[in-house]
Amino acid sequence: MTGPSYNRRVKSLEEYLTVAAERHKHLCPGQVLGVRMAMLGLASLGIADPEANARYLVTFVEIDRCATDAVSVVTGCSLGRRSLKYVDYGKVAATFVDLKTGAAVRVSARDDSRLKAKSMFPGIAQPHRQQLEAYKVMDDGDLFTVQKVTVQVAPEDLPGGPRSRVACDSCGEGINNGREVRREGRVLCRACAGEAYYKIVPPSQPQ
Ligand SMILES: [Zn+2]
Ligand SMILES: [Zn+2]
Repeated sequence: MTGPSYNRRVKSLEEYLTVAAERHKHLCPGQVLGVRMAMLGLASLGIADPEANARYLVTFVEIDRCATDAVSVVTGCSLGRRSLKYVDYGKVAATFVDLKTGAAVRVSARDDSRLKAKSMFPGIAQPHRQQLEAYKVMDDGDLFTVQKVTVQVAPEDLPGGPRSRVACDSCGEGINNGREVRREGRVLCRACAGEAYYKIVPPSQPQ
């Protein structure tokens, strides 16, 4: 057992966990997984200081669960910076992309880490506590699978200010970064083009 390989980075696991638990409102196995997943991803890319690399780092997260919040804490990637991309795969995994070098790694949590946690802490009754403690000390290789990958980040998906902005011909709302739909000579937002996730309640009707 070589232990987790986080010792040479800017913040320690414990320091990141403190910040992550504060933001996420509780400390859970997902926070430990997310923090370690991001630390491992950054280390694999040779990024020691994510803050100094903020302009060049893009992270894709594959699940909207506890771990995602922690990944965001360590990487500094966020929706608002356009550096955090959510792909809805339902998997505890994330891909870290260094835009400067083009290098990318995908780190996924191993499903058998739960069993491993149980075997490491048989004296703890609750699986939640077992995982919380075990995930802190488990080897990277027992916790995660790391894959070298390539990711093509489209120019309109890069972090930074909007590359384009047009108004929808139907609702008049502004649309950034080429998300408009062009149909029969009209420029439409995705909602007006029929992809709306909401239905507008007419003012005269009760909610
Ligand atoms: Zn949680
Ligand atoms: Zn519209």
